[in-house]
Amino acid sequence: MAKDVLCEVNTCSHWENENKCNADSIFVAFNKVKEATRAEETDCQTFEKKTE
Ligand code: SF4
Repeated sequence: MAKDVLCEVNTCSHWENENKCNADSIFVAFNKVKEATRAEETDCQTFEKKTE
């Protein structure tokens, strides 16, 4: 269970006010690399585009 996850991606359907994530769990994967050495090389795969 994801607890106290803060996220600024406010276009995600799991995003709530004050940068809170309401997903039960999240999966963070590598971004284009096989071994991440910087935060920029990671991504949240639980992202789902918010529908208006
Ligand atoms: S699922 Fe990922 S992208 Fe969406 S609010 Fe949670 S942490 Fe952010």
